[in-house]
Amino acid sequence: SIVVTGATGNLGRFVVQGLLEKAPADEITAVVRSKEKGADFEARGVRIAIADYNAPGTFDGLFSAGDKVLLISSSEMDRDRVAQHKVVIDAARASGVALLACTSATGTHDAPLAAAHRGTEKVLVESGLPYVLLRNNWYSEMFVDGLERVIERGVIVRAAGEGRIASATRADFAAGAVAVLTGEGHENKTYELSGDHAWNFAEFAAELGRQTGKEIVYTPVGVEAYIDLMTGAGMPGLYAEILAGAEASFAKGELAGTSGDLSRLIGRPTTPIADTITAALQQS
Ligand code: NDP
Repeated sequence: SIVVTGATGNLGRFVVQGLLEKAPADEITAVVRSKEKGADFEARGVRIAIADYNAPGTFDGLFSAGDKVLLISSSEMDRDRVAQHKVVIDAARASGVALLACTSATGTHDAPLAAAHRGTEKVLVESGLPYVLLRNNWYSEMFVDGLERVIERGVIVRAAGEGRIASATRADFAAGAVAVLTGEGHENKTYELSGDHAWNFAEFAAELGRQTGKEIVYTPVGVEAYIDLMTGAGMPGLYAEILAGAEASFAKGELAGTSGDLSRLIGRPTTPIADTITAALQQS
């Protein structure tokens, strides 16, 4: 079976959809947190398994020898995510799975957010399991959240300086994961998955201005000012600091690398940021 954890998330849904286009539904297992959440997968013939990263016993016996597994990293930022992921890795090792692919962060990304990914990579590589590290750059969708307010005010405030970001869409990254899960020869590979082109916020603002016909200005601020802005808008301090850490990483160019791994895996160019902006404008 091909088993996907975090299957009900934004990325996971694209992965399951992509797998359904390449493999029989009954050879796909979606790991979900409750039967209700897995209902629409079941309706499509996908098998479901119920488990929680915080309850190690729920993963006992979930995998079978020979399974190919995608561990989609946890979204619970206030938890010990390495410990959560280790639950899945330990269960996979006990069952003798054929492959454990894991979503991770860009290799050069040196921020608090990335630390859990580096820790997980270490546990996985040292487990002795055949692994694949899917080091995803940022999801382009993350940058079009709240676009209406940006357009209204005509200002993008970030702490990313001139730094470039080689983002791609969740659908692009999901297609990369599907290629690995359904293809051959990916054992013990590390993929630096990114968009083909790296952009910065000045360019993003210009593109948004072009598409909306409004003047949009990028105003870079320092990391401390950024944290103040976020907490001032009601964001809990922990999250504001995590986000600011990512901004600092953008500013240093840590997310600017374009290895071409993703477009090679999926056999097509990645989705340009301009297209993600267009899609967001059409939805609003
Ligand atoms: P989502 O938040 O949409 O999905 C997270 C998934 O993880 C959900 O299916 C959720 O289950 C599941 N999950 C969370 N906690 C647990 C748990 N304790 N036990 C089992 N499952 C759990 O995130 P995305 O799909 O957008 O992104 C996938 C992952 O990528 C994120 O979790 C995060 O690690 C990382 N990420 C990367 C970003 C990037 O730009 N590269 C940006 C944001 C996140 P449920 O549906 O039940 O809530």
